[in-house]
Amino acid sequence: MADESAMKKEEEREKFAAALCFIEEVTTKCDEVQKRVLAEILSQNAETEYLKRHELKGATDRETFKNKVPVVKYEDIQPDIQRIASGDFSPILCSQPISEFLTSSGTSAGERKLMPTIAEEMDRRQLLYSLLMPVMSLYMPELDKGKALYFLFIKAETKTPGGLVARPVLTSYYKSTHFKNRPFDPYNVYTSPNEAILCPDSFQSMYAQMICGLYDRLQVNRVGAVFASGLLRAIRFLQLHYRDLCHDISSGFLSQRITDPALRARMAKIMRPDPDLAGFVERECREEKWEGIIRRVWPHTKYLEVIVTGAMAQYIPTLDYYSGGLPKVCTMYASSECFFGLNLKPLSDPSEVCYTMLPNMGYFEFIPLDGLAHLTQDSMSRLVDLADVEVGKEYELVITTRAGLYRYRVGDVLYVTGFHNSTPQFKFVRRKNVLLSIDSDKTDELELQKAIENASALLRPFNTSIVEYTSYADTKTIPGHYVIYWELLIKDSMNGPGQDVLDRCCLEMEEALNSVYRQCRVADRSIGPLEIRVVKTGTFEELMDYAISRGASINQYKVPRCVSVMPIAELLDSRVVSAHFSPSMPHWSPERRESVLVEILSQNAEHEDLKRHRLKGATDGETFENKVPVVNFETTQPYIQWIPRGYFSSALYAQPISKFLTRDAQEQSTAVPVVNYEDVQPYIQRIAHGDFSPILCSQPISEFLVHAGVRQRKSPICSIHKDRNKTPRGLMARPLIASYYKSPHFKNRPFDPYNSFTSPDEAILCPDVFQPIYVHMISGLYDRIAVLRLGSTFPSGLLSDCFKPNTPTFAMTYQLEP
Ligand code: AMP
Repeated sequence: MADESAMKKEEEREKFAAALCFIEEVTTKCDEVQKRVLAEILSQNAETEYLKRHELKGATDRETFKNKVPVVKYEDIQPDIQRIASGDFSPILCSQPISEFLTSSGTSAGERKLMPTIAEEMDRRQLLYSLLMPVMSLYMPELDKGKALYFLFIKAETKTPGGLVARPVLTSYYKSTHFKNRPFDPYNVYTSPNEAILCPDSFQSMYAQMICGLYDRLQVNRVGAVFASGLLRAIRFLQLHYRDLCHDISSGFLSQRITDPALRARMAKIMRPDPDLAGFVERECREEKWEGIIRRVWPHTKYLEVIVTGAMAQYIPTLDYYSGGLPKVCTMYASSECFFGLNLKPLSDPSEVCYTMLPNMGYFEFIPLDGLAHLTQDSMSRLVDLADVEVGKEYELVITTRAGLYRYRVGDVLYVTGFHNSTPQFKFVRRKNVLLSIDSDKTDELELQKAIENASALLRPFNTSIVEYTSYADTKTIPGHYVIYWELLIKDSMNGPGQDVLDRCCLEMEEALNSVYRQCRVADRSIGPLEIRVVKTGTFEELMDYAISRGASINQYKVPRCVSVMPIAELLDSRVVSAHFSPSMPHWSPERRESVLVEILSQNAEHEDLKRHRLKGATDGETFENKVPVVNFETTQPYIQWIPRGYFSSALYAQPISKFLTRDAQEQSTAVPVVNYEDVQPYIQRIAHGDFSPILCSQPISEFLVHAGVRQRKSPICSIHKDRNKTPRGLMARPLIASYYKSPHFKNRPFDPYNSFTSPDEAILCPDVFQPIYVHMISGLYDRIAVLRLGSTFPSGLLSDCFKPNTPTFAMTYQLEP
């Protein structure tokens, strides 16, 4: 037994020595490795459409590559990415099959950028992970003697129209066999079981991870999360839920709120009654002061493992407060595009952290920034190789990867601090164009401006406009939230915008922000409700006076769109007249907006109207926006009158359209009109009577959904469950909701912890009016404590008195015209 353990120790020692040797080797031969990596990428991908397009003709040397292949941003390669996402699996960017898309937290047109990846990249990521503990062990002994309490989460994933999975890089890693089937490694024993990390519900995942961390409190030797914001969210979770957690630990029974079957099954093996532990945790958490709580609850913690460089530096004081000043370790620098490098001095102070690039991960070039705010043509043509960067200078990172990104600008600005062997080490300076960031969100100035414009439309009816604005990422609250300062011009003070209008402005702004922001708000709950603080008239002039008093030029002064300097934030706060918060969550769904567009346009490419707009099968947002006009109904009504007379729409565009909102006159003449039901009724009648040619849609019409507003509708109340009618040729005609509830999508839906209903399907599907509501109510009462949300399609469904005894109910009658 002792022999076996000694052997294992020796194996570990050798593994670590090999890892450190590897780092030394690649960093010593930096330029040689880079040259080889580029040659490998270019020869492997010589036959790709992209490299052929740039006439590389099989060349693999740096010079030809730099001469022929342009430096690009995401928007430049988006059409190629879009083709892959739509299912074109020819070698466009990469000769190997794209295994999935990694969704970056950087966005383009409000959606996460899609980064192609290939299966072998997972091995390269794994390689970088395998170097972390050997480096850490040089500075911190005996990390194999305890466990790591890391709060790790997966995020929602989606599929592109071509069927490729699109998800964040860490979700991809945690779901991979590399992670799930990892062999036992004494240096990487986590308190969180895989089932907790892989639970898609962030509440259940966090609850289980926290319980496990508490059970193992005396074995925990390090506490971490990917980003500092994530660790603070875990502390906040403990603050909010310690009573429930302690209750479960004391009784040994897991809360009913944890419904994920795999997680429950795993936790059943972990849960045990431990009233002493529960009592201890409760006493610690009940204390008003939470200073040093991490050290008190997990007394053997040696350090926190979290990224506190870049935007996360704002959380350092709060982390210090809760941890009692434990060292903060930033281990690596990575992205969805490529994993870049690691921190060889993990215990250095956050302000000193620098990352050593690993030259084998990809081919790296650098745009010198020369202290200039904007890149010049000159600096673009002077891209510097990894081994040639100069200490003390700032650069923007440009990468070429095996998965098919060529000279791609990541958007990160790095500062060279020195070299390890012949490989440079960089401080992460900032992400370009990021104004506000709380968690993984990155909001730029244009996005903020657009959000302000959207919200200001709500003020117009009140004769009110926004004179000036600025913003602030408030990380004093957990989770942090965006604060937007507004100075308003209210022209009619008797009729100014009320509290509710300004609250709605907050939500309107959130709706306009990018999908990563909204995902953090809705799914991860890692950002709190957006706040608007209205300041006194004249505040922004005072701000200018302050800046000028500090040396700003009066001619060049521009209102900062984000403030981070304390005296300015304090000045603004001292002038606040009212504060408003978003009253509810903005909309967010894992579906990408552009994916939905691609699907609609590709399915309906043969549709008469789309052909008329000369879309020619294009499915991208840009062509769609350019070719298909935005229209409004009222102004086109006279023209639309042609349709009921039985003309096919192809006859219509010859008619003048008086006022479409189009980009130019050319498009005006080919615009698709906005129509109302009566206008399209002749087509609908044709389908209803059995004309199954592609009249409106290229796919077969499966059924008709009966709209509550059809002309024939007679009564105000209808039971949604009944089949109402069939068309003359036998197509089902029923309300949308009935169609959905009766579909296998609903009836055979897999278990989803976000959507577990108190009502059994039999109640939902019962065609009677009285019987289902009776059963809904009984099951709702039985589950009273577990109920988190109450709902019905419309408020009338919750309030209606049609279920009172003796109230007549009406049936909706739907009749097709002969
Ligand atoms: P994503 O594309 O969502 O994977 O995010 C990658 C980006 O996160 C990088 O390009 C950086 O801007 C940022 N990032 C990653 N690692 C670090 C780090 N150690 N310090 C600061 N920022 C980082």
